Amino acid sequence: MGEVGIHQRRLESLDAVPKLLFIGGKWRPATNDKGFPVFDPASGEELCIVADASIEDAVEALNAAVEAKDEWAQCAPRRRSDVLRTACDLLLDRIEMLALLITMEMGKPLSESRGEVAYAADFLRWFSEEAVRVGGDFSRTPDGTSRTMVIRQPVGPCLLITPWNFPLAMGTRKIGPALAAGCTVVLKPAPQTPLSSLALAAVFEEAGLPAGVLNVVTTSRASEVVEHLLQNHSLRKLSFTGSTAVGRRLLEQCGSQVIRASMELGGNAPFIVFADADLDVTIDAAVKAKMRNMGEACTAGNRFFVHSSLVEEFSTKLATRLGDMNVGPGDQPGVEVGPLIDHASLEKVKGLVNDAVTRGANVLVGGAAHGGPGYFYEPTVLTNVEPSSELTKTEIFGPVAAIQVFEDDDEVIDLANDTAWGLVAYVFTQDVDRAFSVCERLEVGMVGLNTGVVSNAAVPFGGVKQSGLGREGGRVGIDDYLEYKLIAMPALGTSAAKSVHHINGGGS
Ligand code: NAP
Repeated sequence: MGEVGIHQRRLESLDAVPKLLFIGGKWRPATNDKGFPVFDPASGEELCIVADASIEDAVEALNAAVEAKDEWAQCAPRRRSDVLRTACDLLLDRIEMLALLITMEMGKPLSESRGEVAYAADFLRWFSEEAVRVGGDFSRTPDGTSRTMVIRQPVGPCLLITPWNFPLAMGTRKIGPALAAGCTVVLKPAPQTPLSSLALAAVFEEAGLPAGVLNVVTTSRASEVVEHLLQNHSLRKLSFTGSTAVGRRLLEQCGSQVIRASMELGGNAPFIVFADADLDVTIDAAVKAKMRNMGEACTAGNRFFVHSSLVEEFSTKLATRLGDMNVGPGDQPGVEVGPLIDHASLEKVKGLVNDAVTRGANVLVGGAAHGGPGYFYEPTVLTNVEPSSELTKTEIFGPVAAIQVFEDDDEVIDLANDTAWGLVAYVFTQDVDRAFSVCERLEVGMVGLNTGVVSNAAVPFGGVKQSGLGREGGRVGIDDYLEYKLIAMPALGTSAAKSVHHINGGGS
């Protein structure tokens, strides 16, 4: 695509998105016409202004979700399924426009943005299939006196809060199961990347979603707006994806109205390379696990532990691969590494690398900002990383592979588990016994065994420890949006039941 072509397509993509609040099936400005700017991280330039919701706007969105809830809960599961499937197809029809939008507001290369649109659509397809399979249970009690029926019902209006790093897919991973279960929702996207969510709302509108089932409030005042909504007893669930620090705070706020909460939080993934690993497979996987999304992923390999017998070859090969990667604006041809999201993220990554180097790490490649405009950082490989370095204790969220050495299995499992997080781990070995033993002993919700990619719509995604509560995706992904309701009945008309009841003396 030439310069003029790209410029034109950027304008068309931007024009296609309403920059307004989507409440009760209508697009409208925020109270007092307030707005906030959205920036392109590849240039630092302003892209547009979007509506800046106040507390009153957000309450109106919740009221719209409350008003729509009974009809949506009671409509035929097949109808819910059809809307989700139509929205999936529309996303795929618009893959180029949506991918460019993601690249413009978030920075990732276009090829990865296309991958995100497909991944996002897949959650809608998967949950369109699950929408018609919400079952229940019917049984006799163990003492034979009663019959019980257990039905599953939508939990009610939900607040969905998403981060900026996968601006489309983090939304569909929540909206898909919520709508499939029969819940209505208010979506609050991250202020850095609201455009993908607004484009998604437009897609659902076109797919025939009834008014009020999905409401989108963009705001620059998340903490006050969300705190207010979490005091409202009509809200029945919060599903949050973001940092552990914010998740912890929101969990406390959920306490006052006893609101159910699902949390997809941060990670600190160990990437473990045993002496018997297939090095080519491992290097390919390391590039994916580290460099996808410029390292700005909760699943990014954060701590690389490599067996002493392989560390030199692994480090050199990884440095060559990362050093060859093409860094630049994500909408330019051939670019593999885009900018970080903002100035603060760039400063954080710089600080973490400087700290590691001060403590003795060697820089094999990279190790500095890439030069502006925009927030670029060079793909970086550090060896001889001191375990006390800050970057082993926090999410780097940048294109920096920090390598440490280990000698035996027990040692590396202790090192890998020595963190408050437990989202994902990557394990590379050709020994089946070792593979299963290590996978079982790692304190994480997911393991990539000889692969650098774990997620797809059909599997349960989520973490243990401070990486979260609940799972998104897979057959269990809908569970967080459903309540169980027990209907207990006497086993009427059976003399056996009457006599058992008599022998037991009734009772509760
Ligand atoms: P973040 O700062 O925690 O923000 C996430 C969302 O929460 C944003 O919409 C943000 O809006 C909002 N928020 C922040 N403070 C809030 C508050 N006090 N009350 C209510 N809402 C609040 O995280 P981020 O920087 O956007 O995203 C990166 C983090 O997400 C990383 O830690 C990453 O690991 C995690 N993540 C986890 C997963 C997973 O599935 N486990 C997936 C992707 C990302 P404002 O910015 O306006 O405050």
